[in-house]
Amino acid sequence: MSAPHLIAPLLRQLEGDPLGLGRAAQSRRSERLEPRTHTADKVVQSVCPYCAVGCGQKVYVKDEKVVQIEGDPDSPVSRGRLCPKGAASEKLVNSPMRETRVKYRRPGGEDWEYLSLEQATEMIADRVIATRQDTWEEETEDGQPLRRTLGMHFLGGATLDSEENYLIKKFFTAMGAVSIENQARI
Ligand code: SF4
Repeated sequence: MSAPHLIAPLLRQLEGDPLGLGRAAQSRRSERLEPRTHTADKVVQSVCPYCAVGCGQKVYVKDEKVVQIEGDPDSPVSRGRLCPKGAASEKLVNSPMRETRVKYRRPGGEDWEYLSLEQATEMIADRVIATRQDTWEEETEDGQPLRRTLGMHFLGGATLDSEENYLIKKFFTAMGAVSIENQARI
């Protein structure tokens, strides 16, 4: 790079942008760009769904679609910061690679097939009922009540929210399951 190219940004930096984070770093093109956060219709406060840290997020919405997600400076947990995963969570919503259909691979099958949500729900219900029947323990050998099954377990993921986890815990406890966990909790 020749000296004139170096001098211009340096001068711009010396003229009131010492950290080079504002005007000094702008090109003609970037000067004309407008951030998605400026053109959003509304901003909704939320919590990052990925892990138990629970960083605060600001979700920018335009035409009822999420257009950007950034750290929330009002969050006492994260004070505006997000790790790279949380900072990229807009892609959780908008990625064209996001899978929205039920995929199923049969026992011994080599390929995935797509099922309707209704069919998948029926199949899961059949398996839950059969497993519970096959593994139910009514009482101990010396007659103490057990009323449980060790045949099914639940492990939740961080994208489940508190309300979903509450319902899952109630449902599995009512079914007699003992092992009910979530890999992240807030
Ligand atoms: S931003 Fe990162 S650290 Fe914060 S909750 Fe999300 S995944 Fe966890």
